[in-house]
Amino acid sequence: MREKKVEQYDVVIIGGGPAGLTAGIYCGRARLKTILIEKALIGGLATYTSEIENYPGILNKPKGEEVTNLMKKQAEEMGCEFKLTAVQSVDLSGMVKKVETFRTTYEAKAVIISTGGRPRITGAKNEENFLFDKGISFCATCDAAANTGKHVLVIGSGDAAIEEGMFLTKFASKVSVSVMHDEGIMDCNEIAKDAALKNPKMSFIWNTVVDSFEGEDYLSTVNLRNLKNGDIIPVACDSCFEFIGYIPNSDIFKDQINLTPRGYIKTNEKMETNMSGVFACGDIRDKWLRQVSTAVGDGAIAACAAEKYIAEEENYHKLIIEPELPVVILIYNAVDKESQDSLLLFKDVEKLYHNFYAFVKVDIYKSTGIADRLGVKEYPSINLVKHGEIVETITNEITMERIEDMLSRHYDCGCHAKEE
Ligand SMILES: Cc1cc2nc3c(=O)[nH]c(=O)nc-3n(C[C@H](O)[C@H](O)[C@H](O)COP(=O)(O)OP(=O)(O)OC[C@H]3O[C@@H](n4cnc5c(N)ncnc54)[C@H](O)[C@@H]3O)c2cc1C
Repeated sequence: MREKKVEQYDVVIIGGGPAGLTAGIYCGRARLKTILIEKALIGGLATYTSEIENYPGILNKPKGEEVTNLMKKQAEEMGCEFKLTAVQSVDLSGMVKKVETFRTTYEAKAVIISTGGRPRITGAKNEENFLFDKGISFCATCDAAANTGKHVLVIGSGDAAIEEGMFLTKFASKVSVSVMHDEGIMDCNEIAKDAALKNPKMSFIWNTVVDSFEGEDYLSTVNLRNLKNGDIIPVACDSCFEFIGYIPNSDIFKDQINLTPRGYIKTNEKMETNMSGVFACGDIRDKWLRQVSTAVGDGAIAACAAEKYIAEEENYHKLIIEPELPVVILIYNAVDKESQDSLLLFKDVEKLYHNFYAFVKVDIYKSTGIADRLGVKEYPSINLVKHGEIVETITNEITMERIEDMLSRHYDCGCHAKEE
């Protein structure tokens, strides 16, 4: 068997939709050696939409792919590299992350996951002929305006189906809803259900699922099947909106990254996942609104957070792991009065012992990265560190005596004797 190639990058981005492309623009601009790996279409789900009407600053309703092509061009101009292949597996533990494709192992200091998801489809006959811009839609926010004055059919009765269906009534003349349950039973919350049942533009076709789709070039009829008696009910409509779930592309991460029960990646506001150096952005995240505008915001944050992470890691190694001397670290907060006093004391200690110890100041007001890595929560604190491990920490009422006592107890090398 042929040996796999190994390539090194600062950042590997998995998934080339709007979130990944934006991360590529930001990483490239930060001069990080970056590669974006995409398994299908650069541009992701956004390429399936024939008109993007709601992306700020872009007028004249361009096709989704026109917008994402520009994003790709911008990322390339910033130096981001691209590879068209599927990521098959990842090893995200440790400092060097490994991203495996068929032929290559990509090693990276940080990984940004932007693999998005895909709408669940019904699997009914002829469905693939009408997906996306041929009459079957999955996004009311995106396609409602194009259905102004028309008759649309909604499939599903969960929160998304009913809330999006209500939204569609602001544009469409009639919104029919196919519900698989008995009359009056829906999967959505009670408030949405009551509002929908009272909405004069909405009507419900109970005990039905989709049997098949029909049309010439564009969808014209959805044939529903009654689950009780098997009758086929043809529903002539201009568009069909399917809201029967969304499947996040998170399978390859599930054993390493914390996911919600539905498979979305949990992140904090910096797009950090549970694994250090691994970020997630866009539709794959557990979030409230999945749109191009929110995906690009996520991508920008993930890239900046990755850049900061890499810089901090490098700093951490240079300042804390690599020095041969033991390291005395002051963790302080620049806007805290007590911390400001501790800075003066720290200066005095450094003056006395600079031949025997390395001295590092960490301002957590700027970033908590190094303090987090050391597991130090309190400030101001003086920490004695050897080979990256904390030996002792002093907090509260920090004095020269206490510091000298700590240094002398841990290092019986005579070095704590003050220089005359
Ligand atoms: C029909 C439709 C119309 C829409 N219209 C609009 C609209 O008008 N306005 C709007 O704001 N939003 C719209 N949206 C929503 C918008 O497209 C998404 O919110 C957006 O694309 C999310 O971006 P993303 O980068 O997070 O994920 P995606 O766009 O889903 O991109 C993820 C990418 O990751 C790739 N990937 C997944 N797994 C792997 C792997 N293992 N290896 C390599 N690559 C992988 C996928 O192939 C995909 O290209 C629409 C969505 C749909 C379905």
